[in-house]
Amino acid sequence: MGKEIPFDVIIIGGGPAGLSIGSELSKNYKVLVVDKNVAGVTSRSWFVPLDVLDEGVKPFTYGGVTRFLASTFTGAKLAFQAKLFDRYPYVNEKTILPYWLDVIKSNRSQVIDNCAYLDHTVKDGVVSVQTTKGCFASRLLIDASGYNSIILDKYKIKRNNFYWWSVYGAVGEHPNGLQSMQVGDYMMWQTFKDSNENLDTSLAQGRPVFEYEIYDDKTSLSLVLYLRKVQISYSDMEKEYLHVIRNEDSTKPFHDLKIKEIKYGWYPSGNLSQQIAEDHVVFVGDSGCWTTPCGWGMGFILDNYQFFSSQLSKVLAANTLDKASLLSIPHYKVHQKYEVLMNTLATHFLSNATAPQLDKFINLYNQVDPILCEKMLTLKMSEKELREMLKVVLKTFDLKELVQIIPKQDYLLVLEEAKYVVEDTVINKIHDMIHFVSGHEDKPKLNDGFEFQ
Ligand SMILES: Cc1cc2nc3c(=O)[nH]c(=O)nc-3n(C[C@H](O)[C@H](O)[C@H](O)COP(=O)(O)OP(=O)(O)OC[C@H]3O[C@@H](n4cnc5c(N)ncnc54)[C@H](O)[C@@H]3O)c2cc1C
Repeated sequence: MGKEIPFDVIIIGGGPAGLSIGSELSKNYKVLVVDKNVAGVTSRSWFVPLDVLDEGVKPFTYGGVTRFLASTFTGAKLAFQAKLFDRYPYVNEKTILPYWLDVIKSNRSQVIDNCAYLDHTVKDGVVSVQTTKGCFASRLLIDASGYNSIILDKYKIKRNNFYWWSVYGAVGEHPNGLQSMQVGDYMMWQTFKDSNENLDTSLAQGRPVFEYEIYDDKTSLSLVLYLRKVQISYSDMEKEYLHVIRNEDSTKPFHDLKIKEIKYGWYPSGNLSQQIAEDHVVFVGDSGCWTTPCGWGMGFILDNYQFFSSQLSKVLAANTLDKASLLSIPHYKVHQKYEVLMNTLATHFLSNATAPQLDKFINLYNQVDPILCEKMLTLKMSEKELREMLKVVLKTFDLKELVQIIPKQDYLLVLEEAKYVVEDTVINKIHDMIHFVSGHEDKPKLNDGFEFQ
């Protein structure tokens, strides 16, 4: 080739995906990270399951969630201790991202701030990347630019069956103490009677859930979260958040909250992760739709960055960086379909059900064991537990309701996956249902739920 290529890897985006993978690769390769803002600075905050933390990340954690709660406006309250793991620790965004940055720099790789990706070309094994601070060349480009990637757009890549989490809230202080709340509480789903009648039409699809986490005896993080096909605007979320914390009867401990720091953002979720690559280009983190259906984006990164980096090191060493080779390496650990099924179903309830239906769904966990809710969120459900939960769901909601909640394409996906785990009698019902939604003449009875032996 003659001329030496200055970098092995250029990474677009100095968020958690770009910096964690960059720090691993910088141990053996020359890496350049560019960020359109400042690398290592984020307005997000994360708590993650304990078991996704490796020894390198553990020193950057603190506190944690010890009690999961759900509270529905139709009356039911769920409270269950986090028994599956000791705790769900917080990952300190103010120390871990700078640590990864230091690793990259101390390995004599480079980071450039205020440097936005503009475009790139791939020719004869060289990726030429145009940025607002000039042109740089490498053997491989990693897109870690997050939910709004223009590199995905350039390749016209669609993220399959995509949903968005839109999130807005604040870290704040409670001048009158925590009242009924406890340190370590995580209110996972609090629902309200539809409270958005006076807001813009972008909210017409439904209401958000309210979430709070109690950090210490006077500090909380509270958020409104929407799971939708569309992104909710910053101003609509801000309005709704202020309404929820100031006016709702059931959020009294927040009425006098002193807001200290706004946290907000949008991230992909709602379906299975995707492996995406092009010649000399791979996509990671939010840009690559690295997520569980319930959207633990940071948890997913922490669970997979070392694994992915080691796979990538091998193809960099072999210099096999064409699309087929990049796609052939596993990007992340694959979960069993049955682990994902209930999570996908919960996603649909959160995004498409009416407020009373969502309440009914949340309340189902009282009928089985509330710990299943925690296991569902972290993809730790066993096949037996899934069957148990599915029975309750399918008995409680008639097929007509399920058709309304689950969009057709995903409805078939859920049912196909359900076939994998449920009894033969149910499979026949599912076949009936598939015929029904695809317009065949044989219609199932709609109001009897499924019969189980
Ligand atoms: C409020 C909030 C709370 C959350 N809480 C949790 C949680 O508790 N647990 C959990 O697991 N997940 C959580 N998430 C999800 C998690 O934060 C994301 O999945 C994660 O940040 C994705 O990391 P990333 O590096 O892929 O993308 P990002 O964090 O979005 O980083 C992308 C980086 O790329 C840069 N960039 C973008 N475009 C360009 C460009 N053209 N040129 C150069 N640079 C560019 C950006 O400036 C940014 O620094 C939360 C998200 C939000 C919004």
